[in-house]
Amino acid sequence: MIGQIKIEKTNSPKTKPDQSNLGFGNYFTDHMFIMDYTEGKGWHDPRIVPYAPLEMDPATMVLHYGQAIFEGLKAYRAKDGRILLFRPHKNMERVNISNDRLCIPPIDVDFCIEALKELINIEKDWIPTEDGTSLYIRPFIISTDPFLGVRPSKTYKYIVILSPVGAYYPEGINPVKIYVESNYVRAVKGGIGYAKTPGNYASSLKAQMEAKKKGYTQVLWLDGVEKKYIEEVGTMNVFFKINGEVITPALEGSILAGITRDSTMELLKSWGVKVTERKITIQEIYDAHANGTLDEAFGTGTAAVISPIGELNWNDNKITINEGKIGELSSKIYTTITNIQNGDLEDTLGWTT
Ligand code: PMP
Repeated sequence: MIGQIKIEKTNSPKTKPDQSNLGFGNYFTDHMFIMDYTEGKGWHDPRIVPYAPLEMDPATMVLHYGQAIFEGLKAYRAKDGRILLFRPHKNMERVNISNDRLCIPPIDVDFCIEALKELINIEKDWIPTEDGTSLYIRPFIISTDPFLGVRPSKTYKYIVILSPVGAYYPEGINPVKIYVESNYVRAVKGGIGYAKTPGNYASSLKAQMEAKKKGYTQVLWLDGVEKKYIEEVGTMNVFFKINGEVITPALEGSILAGITRDSTMELLKSWGVKVTERKITIQEIYDAHANGTLDEAFGTGTAAVISPIGELNWNDNKITINEGKIGELSSKIYTTITNIQNGDLEDTLGWTT
């Protein structure tokens, strides 16, 4: 039994930030949710407490071996005042997929969604209302044994913090320039690529910094063995429209099973567009571009929803996609998903809670 959620309200609420200048991940709300795990006892002591720093023993395992996982989802304020969550079960189920890979005990998905709703309800005045803004939700788990041996921890903390975030595209969607990474790799099959765990993000930083220096927004990751097959783009899944068919790399263990990826595929199928999950090489993309059949390319993820790709650079061979403009299909997916998320479009697919 996890037990009742105890609530301790803050005595010193913070001043809310200016909605027109939120950016991403800069501000945090007044409260957070915490529960503990102890071997033999399970998850216990769920509580909502004032947002505050965590005190940790310097030997705390997560600081040394990175046994941790996290999630990212958003709450939206609809025009009629409702607070909407987009497919939260998917995120909480993904917590358990990541937990399994990192030897972290599973969470109770339904309980964690109820806890999330309770926290958001307390913080509802923090949900920004301007177009495109939302409340970013960051659940995460850290291993907390004060111990220096390499083994799974026997204690953990599950924590949820909330951050009001600005519109991803305040000036409208702009296709981005992407560097195809042929040197560094993000993950390999058998590794931790499919889990949402800090190590994957730490390993991506150097390539991202080098791509930035060359004038590119993000990198397109290739497989870690042959450097031939396409994996992901930055922290997004990737799609290509070739000859009317939409293709995305199959999930084979090295890439994250994105929830926006899943939603995009479901939408495309419902519109009668052919969608295929399969291995796809970077050469195939360049060939399609050369013979005029590469119509669109875009990334999908919670942060931006859709991020169109306007240019690729693979070993100094540059190609421009759809004249560097946002494609018709990318645009339609973006509008449909964002309108379902913010309640402007009837949710016939049952995605919002
Ligand atoms: N790949 C990686 C590596 C990511 O971090 C994310 C963001 N969570 C995604 C893909 C997209 O996943 P989602 O659509 O669930 O946000």
